[in-house]
Amino acid sequence: MPTGPVALRAAARARLQPLPGGPFVLEGGFWGDRQRLVSECSLPHAWAALEQTGRLANASPASLAGEQPYSGDTYADSDVYKTLEALVWEHSRQPSAAVHRLLVETAAGLAAAQAPDGYLHSWFQRPDSPGRYTDLQMGHELYCAGHLLQAAIAERRTGADFGLMPIAVRLADHLVERFGDPALPYLCGHPLIEMALVELFRTTGTTDYLDLAARMIDGRGYGTLGPGLFGAQYYQDSQPVRAAESPAGHCVRALYLACGATDVYLETGDRTLLDAMVTQWDSLVANKTYLTGGVGCRRKDESFGAPFELPPDHAFAETCAGVALFMWGWRMLLATGHGRYADLMELLLFNLLPAGLSESGTEFSYVNTLHRRRDNPEFGDKRPRRQGWFRCPCCPPNLMRLVGSLGFYLATQDDGGVQLHQYVSGRFEAAVRGGTAALEVHTGYPHGDEVLVTVLDGPTSDWTLSLRVPAWCGQVTLTVAGQLWPMAPDGEGYLRVRRRWEAGTEVSLRLAMPARLTYPDARIDGVRGCVAVERGPVVFCLEQDDLDEVPLESVALDPAAPLEGTFGPVPSVHATGVATAAPRHGWPYLPAVSAVVAGASLQLSLKPYYAWGNRGDAAMRVWLPLCTARAAER
Ligand SMILES: [Zn+2]
Repeated sequence: MPTGPVALRAAARARLQPLPGGPFVLEGGFWGDRQRLVSECSLPHAWAALEQTGRLANASPASLAGEQPYSGDTYADSDVYKTLEALVWEHSRQPSAAVHRLLVETAAGLAAAQAPDGYLHSWFQRPDSPGRYTDLQMGHELYCAGHLLQAAIAERRTGADFGLMPIAVRLADHLVERFGDPALPYLCGHPLIEMALVELFRTTGTTDYLDLAARMIDGRGYGTLGPGLFGAQYYQDSQPVRAAESPAGHCVRALYLACGATDVYLETGDRTLLDAMVTQWDSLVANKTYLTGGVGCRRKDESFGAPFELPPDHAFAETCAGVALFMWGWRMLLATGHGRYADLMELLLFNLLPAGLSESGTEFSYVNTLHRRRDNPEFGDKRPRRQGWFRCPCCPPNLMRLVGSLGFYLATQDDGGVQLHQYVSGRFEAAVRGGTAALEVHTGYPHGDEVLVTVLDGPTSDWTLSLRVPAWCGQVTLTVAGQLWPMAPDGEGYLRVRRRWEAGTEVSLRLAMPARLTYPDARIDGVRGCVAVERGPVVFCLEQDDLDEVPLESVALDPAAPLEGTFGPVPSVHATGVATAAPRHGWPYLPAVSAVVAGASLQLSLKPYYAWGNRGDAAMRVWLPLCTARAAER
């Protein structure tokens, strides 16, 4: 049976194990529909874009001979490899002769491009390049290698053979050979190779790969790479991994490194690494994460800001950083079993990540702002709206490979039973006492408040079904086999039902999700005096498209008025607001509080953040100013 992107060795120090019997199979619903959209629209769109922009030709003989222009920059191979990985996961669900042929042909091209010693990087193999390993800061050689390894790992895990794995093993063996000498520089300016090497160790059993990954983690933080354009912190080389108290520098780099460090802990049991990861995670969540799960606000170097530096209109919140944070959350969940990691994964799953994909499936976001103004300054390729493709198209295929493998990130098992962490419709199997249990989940989540779990098949035996109660949920009702089951979540955030299960037993979990107002920590200057609307795990936003003539920037929300939701095909939360008066001409500062509340009340219709921007380029904001009079009362 297919196993997922993370398949722990038997000796791994994990509290929880990924499902061994194949993925959770999504069936319709919020993510099942998106998985189909990616399959039918996004992946063909991405492959066409890779062809049209010349990415696929970079590894051709003519390109390697320098006889044609190069497409993109030193990261360009990774665009292809991530798309290959997405196609491999997709092919495992829906085999297709055309995709099979495409994968085999592409793998054959890569095998032909690979140097006799196993090296593979289409930019540095060209005669006009400065040569291998001459630019570890920004050369992306090991980063690209990591993505190739991950595509090959997906191939192996899904039981397929397109020819990728032999290329990956030769490349990894080359890396072990080349960087086996501790006296030589052995860091890549863009982490990722660490997690890929651990996974290749998990796949092949070759301990050299794990050892190299561990050395790369241990070797970081001593300035080996030099200051570069943005300083050593940019690529996590300013502080040893165990000494850093918060992820710092370029967000995607930092979070992939955290994945690798957590993976090394899981396989070696080096507790100091896990302790550092817990500290860094807690710091990240406490003061560097946007309400939507996004991270990063510094555009110049795509990095985290200082603690509580979370301006909504300058949120960078790259889709790739959301993917990386999701992947790190999964590893922390496996390591610790604590629901707070699954909570943040849920936040990403229903806010930042789906916002990265248009309803058409052919537009993607790089930047995920929380406030787009009507007169929004554009930032070139990285403008805060979805686009068909990018000069640096890192995000679209990254999202696609995650969506393709999403079924592996939703549930786990341990010796005592089964844990369901995310609520999507579908079915899965897990090993329980006495055999294999097949379970079905049916839910309208994230807008429907009931999750129905049915044991379809399996032995009649005692085991524990654990259901996560999200941190946002204050009232939960559990029914087991028609009986109310009074129970509160344990310290890890789960309801744990231990009983004798048999086929046909139904469990109903109701998570009360009234629309609610969320106030920001007073230390976040960018949203002081504002409020956000949430319902269940979903963050809502207000778009200019729903305001008729009133400018979005003039709207304030009345926190005393009730919130009402409608959750049909277009979910909305209705709130009440007012249009604030313009103060004085040309002077953006307001007179005394009492004079501010102007005009008649407005009925506001807020839509899910994940759906914003599907009606054009309109303005949007998540954080709404409070009516000033009301704010003064607070
Ligand atoms: Zn990206």
